[in-house]
Amino acid sequence: MDYTIDNEYLNGLMQKVIAKNPSENEFHQAVFEFLESVKYALPTHPELIDKQILERIVEPERQIMFRVAWVDDNGKIQVNRGYRIQFNSAIGPYKGGLRLHPSVNLGIIKFLGFEQIFKNSLTGLPIGGGKGGSDFDPKGKSDNEVMAFCQSFMRELYRHIGPDVDVPAGDIGTGAREIGFLFGQYKKIVNEYTGVLTGKGLTWGGSLARTEATGYGLCYFVNCMLQKKMNTSFEGKTVVISGSGNVAIYANEKATQLGAKVVAMSDSNGYIYDENGINLDVIKRLKEVERKRISEYVNEVPTAKYTADENGSKGIWTIPCDIALPCATQNELNLESAKTLVANGCKVVGEGANMPTTPDATEYLLSNGIYFTPGKASNAGGVATSALEMCQNSARLSWTFEEVDAKLKGIMENIFENCDKTAEEVGCPNNYVVGANIAGLLKVASAMEAQGCI
Ligand code: NDP
Repeated sequence: MDYTIDNEYLNGLMQKVIAKNPSENEFHQAVFEFLESVKYALPTHPELIDKQILERIVEPERQIMFRVAWVDDNGKIQVNRGYRIQFNSAIGPYKGGLRLHPSVNLGIIKFLGFEQIFKNSLTGLPIGGGKGGSDFDPKGKSDNEVMAFCQSFMRELYRHIGPDVDVPAGDIGTGAREIGFLFGQYKKIVNEYTGVLTGKGLTWGGSLARTEATGYGLCYFVNCMLQKKMNTSFEGKTVVISGSGNVAIYANEKATQLGAKVVAMSDSNGYIYDENGINLDVIKRLKEVERKRISEYVNEVPTAKYTADENGSKGIWTIPCDIALPCATQNELNLESAKTLVANGCKVVGEGANMPTTPDATEYLLSNGIYFTPGKASNAGGVATSALEMCQNSARLSWTFEEVDAKLKGIMENIFENCDKTAEEVGCPNNYVVGANIAGLLKVASAMEAQGCI
């Protein structure tokens, strides 16, 4: 991939990042997308260069990698690698999820941690950026094996985190079950009942609406954009959503509540299509309760059609829609898919996943007048609600679902306004990639400047 930037200073920095972090492709991609945007802020913000803000911000404050050994159900020792990247704490304790997936490597965790800095800043809440995880695959493991892994993972991680230091949460492969095992082990070791993790169960410190937050937040953000920029809404729109995990399920739920029809969803083996709309109750049972494959859906809903797609489910983007919401994983929507979406009349692409759209696909969508919302802005509802969970834990209070949901909606609308206004101010109207990167950066940059050379 060619990551040349048409600005001498930024290009020099980009090439340094590539040389210093070899083989970390996703990290290079995330930094490239960010620096490409930052060029629009340089004329009015000389401190970004003078105070070496950009040089510092691409270097994590701390990178932790560790062995995770655990015993499987056959009595055999298994070994995985654990990661926690504490990227930036200028505006608050590190905050970001833990990803458990066999594809996890240092470059993936660093790209996620890097994006988290700006996402967390956009929420307006005092949280820094971090991310972690492991190449452990929870799929096909028994509950006992997942617990053994989580306990071993926490036996190392506990010494690096804390409610005022670093507060991990869920991500791909890390749901309520995993957070429970991790929290139990942390409490056992440290002998403290604190809000050290978010995404906890409702009976032990979790927040109402956290489960729904990322998917709901995505729809609040997109709906706000539809109303303000296109004078329309989700009402009557046909929507395609990739993935069928936490983000995808609750994006479906909110889009449907707002009057849309979701006609397709996927997992890593294929996608389902039903022109009458997906039955979300069946998806929730299959995925959240029974942990089954999405292919099983057609056994229960015969009007639907399943297409196997070992190519990471990219075929889902051939289904005509008004709004596409990629909610599975990084780089799942490439240039070819972007062209197909545009040719089929899609008008909006709203990212629920982190970096699901490749750089050339993003460029194509933007230059073809598609309203495109970058994940670091439009999926920020998850971490924002995690920060609300931290507030409730500190205050020893529980807010109602309606209270949390109303705060979430307000936060997402503020993020949209901020991205829209910033994009306009730097001369890139309706470019929310530029708006999100610059708005997220400037707050962190001013905190870094105030705190001196650290
Ligand atoms: P889940 O593990 O709940 O679901 C992930 C979904 O994506 C599953 O349907 C999974 O299919 C699919 N998927 C995962 N990897 C691939 C792949 N390589 N190719 C195709 N499909 C794949 O994760 P979440 O819903 O929590 O996360 C989804 C995305 O949203 C991620 O990018 C995550 O970083 C981002 N995100 C999540 C937040 C949250 O609060 N959960 C907050 C902000 C962002 P399968 O089951 O077959 O693996």
